[in-house]
Amino acid sequence: MKNVVLIPGDGIGAEITNSVTTILEEAGAEINWIECSAGLKAYEETGNPLPEETIEALDEHRISLKGPLTTPVGSGFRSVNVALRQKFNLYSNIRPARTLPSIDSPFRGVDMVLFRENTQGLYIGKEEWIEEADNKKHAEAIAVVTEEASEKIIRAAFEYAVKNERKKVTLVHKANILKLTTGLFLEVGRKIAKEYKDIEFQDLIVDNMAMQMVLRPQQFDVVVTTNLFGDILSDLASGLVGGLGVTGAANIGDDAAMFEAVHGSAPDIVGKNVANPMALLFSSLMMLEHIDQKQIAENIRKAVYKTLVEKKVYCTPDIGGEGTTSTFTQAVCDNI
Ligand code: NAD
Repeated sequence: MKNVVLIPGDGIGAEITNSVTTILEEAGAEINWIECSAGLKAYEETGNPLPEETIEALDEHRISLKGPLTTPVGSGFRSVNVALRQKFNLYSNIRPARTLPSIDSPFRGVDMVLFRENTQGLYIGKEEWIEEADNKKHAEAIAVVTEEASEKIIRAAFEYAVKNERKKVTLVHKANILKLTTGLFLEVGRKIAKEYKDIEFQDLIVDNMAMQMVLRPQQFDVVVTTNLFGDILSDLASGLVGGLGVTGAANIGDDAAMFEAVHGSAPDIVGKNVANPMALLFSSLMMLEHIDQKQIAENIRKAVYKTLVEKKVYCTPDIGGEGTTSTFTQAVCDNI
């Protein structure tokens, strides 16, 4: 039995985590769930969006599955998601994008896994106002790229490629313009690529990458990039296979990992039994792979694909079904 911290989160969080834990149990996953709270609900109950007990549980067990958290605009509390990534140095954000049966998309045959550096680049929040003589507004932001952090994420991408029998790693940068920051990222990538002779290495400038992803996404296998480019390209990749509602995500560091759905808490559909649990379910499959319960993940994946073939009957309205959270959950359980 593996201890996993379960944070249902806000809004539809309880409904989709219920569905996911039911399916994992049906499939025989060996998990002991330790339920903890975080987000708006935790804030309303305890005055803290990230209670000390939750941090202690995460510290002890190191693996978590997290539903969406509401971040009220202008409430003064910082994003718990960002706080967790920083606290546990979850430097790899991993987003697979794989074509699914019966999910509408003009693109078929997509199967890529995008690694986004999660702690540096332009997203470190170092911004400042610069005083101008004419009182015109002027703001500046700093991007940070270090050799050490670049090495970690790029190595994580190559190691993933080896473990999962992938053939190619594409590094995305803008080293022709941002010669120092993304230039360093590229330099580290070229150095690491030499250690992995069996994996093809390619580097692409980000604007070309965006075009190629739309023209011929099937050419990409494992992709690794910096924080800002990764933020944009990972959503683009999800868009190629049906959007954020059907793609899983993981945040992984050296000694902790958090698996989560990328969509939000969907306040407009709470309690209506129409929340789609697929994104969180796919994240939980990444978690099962991470904790060496790969066969169980594969069995669930097959059961979901089978359920998708009869999408109209069993799946939720957001992907064109006429079913509910419950009918989807039951159908996946039956197909296992
Ligand atoms: P949202 O993703 O919650 O909702 C956008 C639209 O997508 C809504 O119409 C919603 O009903 C639909 N939707 C989202 N998930 C769905 C699902 N699983 N099944 C069916 N439909 C689904 O985005 P938002 O409305 O911009 O944000 C709401 C709250 O969520 C905000 O407080 C925001 O801060 C938070 N949020 C959290 C995360 C996270 O925890 N990772 C991510 C994004 C937004």
